Amino acid sequence: MSRFMRPCFRGLEAYTPGEQPRDQQYVKLNTNESPYPPSPEVFERLSAAEIEKLNLYPDPTGKALKEKLAALYGVEAKNVFLSNGSDEILNFAFLAFCDEERGVAFPEISYGFYPVYGGLYRVPCVKIPLKEDFSIDFRDYCDIGKMVVIANPNAPTGMELPLAEIEEILKSNAHQIVLIDEAYVDFGGTSCVELIGKYDNLLVVQTFSKSRSMAGARLGFAIANEDIIEDLEKIKFSTNPYNINRLTLAAGEAAVESDAYYRNNAKKIAETREWTMARLREMNFVVLDSVANFVFAKSNDLRGETVYRELKKKGVLVRYFGKANIEDFVRITIGTPEQMARLLEALTEVLTEQKGDFHENQ
Ligand code: PMP
Repeated sequence: MSRFMRPCFRGLEAYTPGEQPRDQQYVKLNTNESPYPPSPEVFERLSAAEIEKLNLYPDPTGKALKEKLAALYGVEAKNVFLSNGSDEILNFAFLAFCDEERGVAFPEISYGFYPVYGGLYRVPCVKIPLKEDFSIDFRDYCDIGKMVVIANPNAPTGMELPLAEIEEILKSNAHQIVLIDEAYVDFGGTSCVELIGKYDNLLVVQTFSKSRSMAGARLGFAIANEDIIEDLEKIKFSTNPYNINRLTLAAGEAAVESDAYYRNNAKKIAETREWTMARLREMNFVVLDSVANFVFAKSNDLRGETVYRELKKKGVLVRYFGKANIEDFVRITIGTPEQMARLLEALTEVLTEQKGDFHENQ
């Protein structure tokens, strides 16, 4: 750290992204990317003609993409906000809608970026424990008087909160933003986009990084009441008006046009998830009921850290958090059927080779 850093940021705990190794080819099941490529329409759209225009700034309003998304989700363009990955919307929401007095509440086990933004803006964070079965108790968030942030499905559990329970949270916190992070909703969850006309405090956040195979392009969007969108636009135009580059805007438009392709991929991933979960359970794993493109699983025989480490030695990368209450869990992204077969094969080997590791060390 240099001596120039503002004192208030010296103790900042930054977010640590999942590993993006360059040293070898892994079966990469650690950062919830799609195993499928972008649609043929995206390939076609990112042609020389598009690259030729890189000397010009992109449209700072993203009008064409907003209109396409609005049509797809049955809202109006004024209800849509575009961002550089959905992380940017989280960033803007923490900046715009909570402060030192009015804190923020989110589940203790959830996306690791929420407390980081809380720390960055010095917003008091209330971290609410999950129930013993790792589900969210919606009553913990009712009448809480703070901004509420909930990933639905939650990460890393993959478990879903029913819409009726989200409505209770919305109703009882009418003067606070309720941000529902739907990064993983397309793999079997239920979106609450349809509720934005009913609740003017609802902010729904989605991304092109998962079901739309565009993590590398960095594109997210929010859907909400137009006043909330206007606030987010104000923050964007006060920080980086050209937050989405020209190629990403073009790719995003083509991706929305090929919705059927992505919907089919999400269906394939959900099918792969179901048999992967069944196989893991047969292998004596506890597997939470996931509706996302990942599963959160714990071996009854091996420590989570051992599973992670030994799989990595065999070229299979999964995510290990090593945090309280989930230290024996690993999060496994659902890949292609071939990738999951490789994972299960590697796991079978690890279970034989490492037998007893868990119990001996207890
Ligand atoms: N929300 C959740 C719950 C996530 O897991 C992620 C991805 N790590 C994001 C938001 C951010 O994704 P992106 O910025 O790629 O849209």
